[in-house]
Amino acid sequence: MNEQLHKDLITLDQILEKVKVQGLDYLAKLSERPTSASSAILLNETLDEMGLGSMDTLKAFNEKFEKLIVSSSGPRYLGFVIGGTTPASIVGDWLATIYDQNPQAIKGEGDISAHIEMETIKLLLDLFDLPKDFTGGFVTGATMSNFTCLATARQWIGKQHGKDFARDGVSEQIYILSASPHSSVIKSLSMLGIGSNNYIRVKVNSDNRESIDIEDLKLKIKALKGQPFILISSAGTVNTVDFDDFKTISKLKRNHDFWWHIDGTFGAFAACSPKYKHLTSGWETADSITIDCHKWLNVPYESAIFLVKEQYRSIQTETFQNSNAPYLGDPSEDFNYLNFLPENSRRLKALPVWFSLMAYGKKGYRYITENVVAMANHFGHFIETSNAFELMAPIRLNNVCYTLEGEENQDKVFPFLKNINETGKVFMTPTVYNGKKGIRASFVNWRTSKQDVDMVAKVMIKLISNRVV
Ligand SMILES: *Cc1c(COP(=O)(O)O)cnc(C)c1O
Repeated sequence: MNEQLHKDLITLDQILEKVKVQGLDYLAKLSERPTSASSAILLNETLDEMGLGSMDTLKAFNEKFEKLIVSSSGPRYLGFVIGGTTPASIVGDWLATIYDQNPQAIKGEGDISAHIEMETIKLLLDLFDLPKDFTGGFVTGATMSNFTCLATARQWIGKQHGKDFARDGVSEQIYILSASPHSSVIKSLSMLGIGSNNYIRVKVNSDNRESIDIEDLKLKIKALKGQPFILISSAGTVNTVDFDDFKTISKLKRNHDFWWHIDGTFGAFAACSPKYKHLTSGWETADSITIDCHKWLNVPYESAIFLVKEQYRSIQTETFQNSNAPYLGDPSEDFNYLNFLPENSRRLKALPVWFSLMAYGKKGYRYITENVVAMANHFGHFIETSNAFELMAPIRLNNVCYTLEGEENQDKVFPFLKNINETGKVFMTPTVYNGKKGIRASFVNWRTSKQDVDMVAKVMIKLISNRVV
C-alpha cells in the first residue's frame, strides 16, 4: 500500500479524534465567530508529489482556510435563507460518509440505503402532514428539486399532446403560468429547454403581496383555450414569505387540465406548527412539491427533496430513464432511484435527515419552526418601533424585509447594509421590493435566540447613532 495511505489507515483513530475536537471547538464558538471575512487567499496550483498525510493536511487547512471560515451555520447569519446543523444531523452526516452508500434500490450496492431514503420521505410526509400518495427522493438542493419536478411536468405536457418529449425532444409549446417564481425556477426553465423568458406572468395580489391574483389567473387560463399548462406557485416567496391561495387553486384544478407545482423550499415548514399550518392548506392536491432540508430542517448541505404524486411514477421514470445500460438491471422490473431523478450515483443524503427527524420528532420541529418565527417577529418589532427603519411588508412567517425610513435615505440603504455586514456580528442580504431598496433578514437557524436578535438591534442602533451611514 502507498505509505501515506498506510500511515493514515493505522492512525485513523488519532486523526478522527483531532477532527472531533476541532469540530466541537468550532460549534462551541459558533456564536463568536465572525459572520463575514474579507481576507483574500492565494490559490495553490501545484500538487505535492508525496502528499502530506491527513494529519499535516489538517494543519495546512487550518493555517490557510480555517480562520477565514464564516459562521454561516450560526445564529446571526440572516442572509439568503441559510440553515444550520442539528447535532443529530451531524451524526447522520458523519455516518453517511463512513458507510459511503449509493442509494439506488437495485439488488446489490446501496440496496438497504434506498430503503432508508424511502423511509425518510415517509417520515417527512408525516412531518408536513402530507398524504402518502406522494413519492419522493433526495437531490442536492431546491434548485435541482424544482428542476426534477418541472422535468416531470414537461413530460406530462407531452403526454397531453400524445408525445414523448423525453425520447423525441420538445415539439410543442409548453405554457407556464407563475406570479413570483424563485430565480431557481427560472433557471430550471432554461435548463429544461423551455426557456427562461417563456412563462406567462400572472399578476400578484394588490395590497403589497407577492401571491397569485386568482382573478388574473382565471383570465390567463381562459386565454389558453384548454391547452394543458404548468402552474408554478409558491409556499413562501423569498422577500415576504407570501403563500398562494392553495385552496382556491385546488378547486380550479378540478375543472382545468394543468400540472400544479409548488415551490415550498422553506415555507413548507409552516405545516409543522398548528399556528401556521393554515398557510399550506390545500397544498396536498398539488402534483409536485419542492422542499429544502438544508434550510429550515437544519441539516448539512446538500439536501432537498422532491415530492411527486405516485400516479406519475411512469412519467417520471420516462423522464429520467437510464435504461441503456444492461449492467444496471432491467428498469421495468424494480423501482430504482437512478431512473427517477437526475443523478445516477449519489451520497446517502437521507441519513442526516433521518437522524434529525428521529432525534427531535414532530415536537422538535414544531419548536424550531415556532422559535424561528418568534425571532423574526422580535426583530420585526424592533424595526417597527425604531424611527430609523421601517418594514417593507408585514412579517408573514420568518423573513423581515425592511429599509431605512424616508425616501431621501434610499441611496444609503446598501452602504448601510455593507456596514452592518462588516461588523462580522450579523449578516443580511439586499433586496429590491416594490421598486425600493431594502434589506432582508431571514430567520431559519435552530440556534437563534432573543439575545442574538437584541445584539443585532444593538449593532444597528450603534451604526445609526454613530452616523456611519
Ligand atoms: C433557496 C430557494 C431555492 C433554491 O434552493 P437551493 O437549495 O439553493 O438550490 C428555491 N426556491 C426558494 C423559494 C428558495 O428560497
